[in-house]
Amino acid sequence: AKKPQIVILGAGYGGMIAATKLQKKLGSGEAHVTLVSKHKYHYQTTWLHEPAAGTMHHDDARIEIDKVLNSNRANFVQDTVTSINKDEKKVILKEGGELAYDYLIIGVGATAETFGVEGVFEHAYHKWTIDGVRELKDHIEFQFSKYRNETVHKDEDLTFVVAGAGFTGIEFIGELSERVPKLCEHYDVPREKVKMYVIEAAPSALPGFDPELVEYAMNLLEHRGVEFKINTPIAEVKENLVVLKDGEEIPASTIIWATGVRGNKLIEESGFEAMRGRVKVDADLRAPGEEDVFIIGDCALIINEETERPFPPTAQIAMQQGAVAAENVMALIRGGTTSNLKPEILGTLASLGGKEAMGTVNVSFLKGRKLYGRSAYFMKHMSDNRYLMKLGGPLLVLSKGRNPF
Ligand code: FAD
Ligand code: NAD
Repeated sequence: AKKPQIVILGAGYGGMIAATKLQKKLGSGEAHVTLVSKHKYHYQTTWLHEPAAGTMHHDDARIEIDKVLNSNRANFVQDTVTSINKDEKKVILKEGGELAYDYLIIGVGATAETFGVEGVFEHAYHKWTIDGVRELKDHIEFQFSKYRNETVHKDEDLTFVVAGAGFTGIEFIGELSERVPKLCEHYDVPREKVKMYVIEAAPSALPGFDPELVEYAMNLLEHRGVEFKINTPIAEVKENLVVLKDGEEIPASTIIWATGVRGNKLIEESGFEAMRGRVKVDADLRAPGEEDVFIIGDCALIINEETERPFPPTAQIAMQQGAVAAENVMALIRGGTTSNLKPEILGTLASLGGKEAMGTVNVSFLKGRKLYGRSAYFMKHMSDNRYLMKLGGPLLVLSKGRNPF
């Protein structure tokens, strides 16, 4: 009989965990696995605030796919998926025609949510990808490097505005605020010329997160010169200008958008019923009404039964979903039944630049503990290493891992 075709879309956290699990656990004659993704590398989205601010080289936040995918066990196709045809069970690619599937795992990630604010895509940096953050980092450096060659200085030249004090905004400003003194020294720019703002619509930064930890983060960042504007929704973005709902205008040549995410447009364009681009998947991660399509990561919406609200889309959940989707596809191929995802939140840790971090952990003897500073930094980097260990074993940790100290 013909081998079943398993196609995985997107080499993110969910897709990579699914692909590596399948290559490990499937017998060689059991199925044919194909991973499709835009780039020939996997990038760790959760590290991207660092190359964005220039505190890490972007190569350190990406891994060549052929380093972790065994070409004898799984096939990699570098291409962009342009649509999914569920009725004919095939995927349409930008460069290379079509791919037929028997089982499909969709993990194509998220894009920026603007909540209707105009001008974001035209005038703000909003792409949390390698390509996106590399451009942002070069732009930041250019703003500094041109300073001494200009006869007229405009305030906006060295004003940096971060839209949204969620985890992405906070982690990015943590890196930037840590780097600014070094940039000032390198380019002979007086420190007082640089302005950094974080603008948040909700009544608090990191809304819903532990207030003591939020205060710790804000104090630390304010100490480094970051100015918070809380309870202050952004109404519009124009060229070099942020317009607030209360009418205030902040001229800024660098605007970084981080007000949340929505699922990849591919989801809605392919006819899945979705909320902000995310499909409310069944407990076994299948799209409702679909026998053979699994949706994982930022494209999937799952409800936390304790709070009756959706789980925030995180890499942590995406990885667990990738593993369960892979197990379920194997079960179906072998004539078995699927199992349900049991989401487990092991903690939430945010880096704040330098060796600073904060967050909560929920594992063994640290259950429910709040961590600050170096201990939070240590745990965050250990969890990054734990992911690399899962993905590629000790050699990958050695070549791409983090120093937790
Ligand atoms: P992604 O990891 O985003 O991967 C999607 C993949 O699909 C990419 O490789 C992309 O190139 C590919 N792709 C997209 N469109 C197409 C297409 N049309 N055709 C082919 N391929 C395509 N979460 C945490 O749990 N902990 C953290 O500390 C954390 N930190 C973060 C820091 C930052 C700065 C950001 C932006 C996010 C952070 N997150 C964190 C959230 C986390 O990154 C996401 O939830 C996670 O990446 C989602 O995984 P995914 O597998 O759904 O998609
Ligand atoms: P988010 O939704 O968590 O935060 C976005 C923030 O922007 C919110 O506080 C919101 O009130 C604010 N906002 C929305 N519209 C606004 C407007 N018009 N003007 C001003 N502020 C506005 O989004 P995120 O920070 O991009 O994170 C996306 C996902 O990734 C989340 O699930 C998050 O938990 C996860 N993440 C986790 C980590 C971590 O664990 N360290 C780091 C980054 C991201």
